Amino acid sequence: MTHTAWRCDLSATRCVFCSLCTLRPMSTHEVENAPPRLPDVNRFTTDALLMTAGFEPGEAQQLDQLGAQAGTAQAAEWGRLANSYPPELRTHDRFGHRIDEVEFHPAWHELLRVAVGHGLHATPWTRGRHVVRATGFYLWSQVEAGHGCPISMTYSVLPALRHAPDLAAEFEAGLTSTTYDPGLRPPLTKSGLLAGMAMTEKQGGSDVRSNTTRAVPADGHYLLTGHKWFCSAPMCDLFLVLARAPAGLSCFLVPRVLSNGARNPFAIQRLKDKLGNRSNASAEIEFDGTHGYLVGDVGDGLRTILDMVSMTRLDCVVGSAAGQRAAVVQAVHHARHRRVFGSGLIDAPLMREVLADLCVESAAATALFVRLARTVDDDERALARLAVPAAKFWVCKRTVTVVAEALECLGGNGYVEESGLPRLYRESPLNSIWEGSGNVIALDVVRAATREPASVAALLAELATTAGADRALDEAVSQLTSQLAGLGQDPGADQRGARQLSEWLARCLAGSLLVRHAPGLAGRFLAGLTEPSAALGARPGPGTDIALRAIPET
Ligand SMILES: Cc1cc2nc3c(=O)[nH]c(=O)nc-3n(C[C@H](O)[C@H](O)[C@H](O)COP(=O)(O)OP(=O)(O)OC[C@H]3O[C@@H](n4cnc5c(N)ncnc54)[C@H](O)[C@@H]3O)c2cc1C
Repeated sequence: MTHTAWRCDLSATRCVFCSLCTLRPMSTHEVENAPPRLPDVNRFTTDALLMTAGFEPGEAQQLDQLGAQAGTAQAAEWGRLANSYPPELRTHDRFGHRIDEVEFHPAWHELLRVAVGHGLHATPWTRGRHVVRATGFYLWSQVEAGHGCPISMTYSVLPALRHAPDLAAEFEAGLTSTTYDPGLRPPLTKSGLLAGMAMTEKQGGSDVRSNTTRAVPADGHYLLTGHKWFCSAPMCDLFLVLARAPAGLSCFLVPRVLSNGARNPFAIQRLKDKLGNRSNASAEIEFDGTHGYLVGDVGDGLRTILDMVSMTRLDCVVGSAAGQRAAVVQAVHHARHRRVFGSGLIDAPLMREVLADLCVESAAATALFVRLARTVDDDERALARLAVPAAKFWVCKRTVTVVAEALECLGGNGYVEESGLPRLYRESPLNSIWEGSGNVIALDVVRAATREPASVAALLAELATTAGADRALDEAVSQLTSQLAGLGQDPGADQRGARQLSEWLARCLAGSLLVRHAPGLAGRFLAGLTEPSAALGARPGPGTDIALRAIPET
């Protein structure tokens, strides 16, 4: 039997799998002061802020089970394997037929099987609450982030697909089924379906109005021709695609396999070699006479697909909160078991300050996602319209800082792959980029605040629930109210200040939620609330042109 790193239990004194090798501790090499592996821990019951969602006993039981599984060594190992053995593209079969399939490590399928089995990809559209599903997504995303991409896209596709009631009726059962059924086959013959989306083209991802993929009406459907520069999880069964019909940009449902069993043209040209999110495949694809079925009105594609995008934006907040929590749990665990200069690292006054800030930031992100998920259940559209993009801007940006700092708490060990922190770190910028990059999202906050007074009113009403509870929060809310009232007079200034406004808004909302649900943590969070922003681009000031001249034109 071959001795390989992942078959041998290296913590044992002897390899437990083979008799050929003799792993013994070396007499010169005693391992001391090494914190133990994070023990199995229930990620639901150990996360007090989640309880602010007010779960029913049945909901709590379901999340308890998922939280326990999310905290096991087995789940962590799936996460490691899915990322250590990234997906591989198979463009052709052995006979030369084009197949355009992607092969994944079995661990990827295990992760998806659990996620689908718990309904993280869809159930609240037919049964159950969105806040329960969001909490489940948060718990399971702490194990591994990449597989969350198709889970999130499938969750988000239904509100948009319902713009085509016939198509929704056809595919809804498959999309909400809790059976994970991988492989490319006609969708209606499968016991479970996953969905993706393809909007971004080479010439512009933020400005999808520049899309050039064409859609020509055919017999009851459209034929699509063009390219998509990013299309993640290309082994999904169905995709929502933006393409230009004669009457304008429209949204289409594109199945990978047609009902007669033929492959719909969907050529995967390459998989991206990405910074992180390595378990997930992100492809460049070409459509060439590809069958697409109109979703929503022709020419109304952007508005239709935005119903999907607004849900994936919420999931960016949930996923980032999960990344923060996973990193902070590791940091605190390490500090509790590591000794420095003769005493526990957790007792070092300066380290305590760092860890306390990490815990508070992570708690704020958790409180935000729980509140925002509840807006879907309670149909609080006006509040969500403003608060979701603001939270996406702030929580996703903050995750990079939080994860980097948590990583440093483990010292050099945190920089080493085996700690799991590098994977969290590489993942951390992504939620800020996709589904609307930072600036685009911040400008969307300004747009909502300027054009939708009901959203501003809903936000201020929410913040009023904690008025008078804390002086720093009152002051921050008062500044926010003035900023909101001043919008619309100078569009240039509004754009320059968009990041500042978004961050301010999200921090006020998070502060208010902490006052309500975690008063012990609120004081620390609120103490920094009126400080200038930490995010780049959130302090519009003089000297912008001079500063830019520091880098010569190239
Ligand atoms: C791993 C990964 C997977 C992805 N998967 C998918 C997928 O499955 N489907 C899909 O359709 N797309 C996908 N994307 C694409 C993603 O949504 C886009 O990259 C993103 O929307 C940004 O578009 P862009 O890359 O073209 O950048 P650009 O649009 O060129 O933007 C570049 C920068 O300019 C900023 N900017 C843009 N407009 C303005 C403005 N008016 N004012 C100020 N700043 C501005 C942006 O914030 C950004 O920082 C994926 C991306 C990644 C990284």
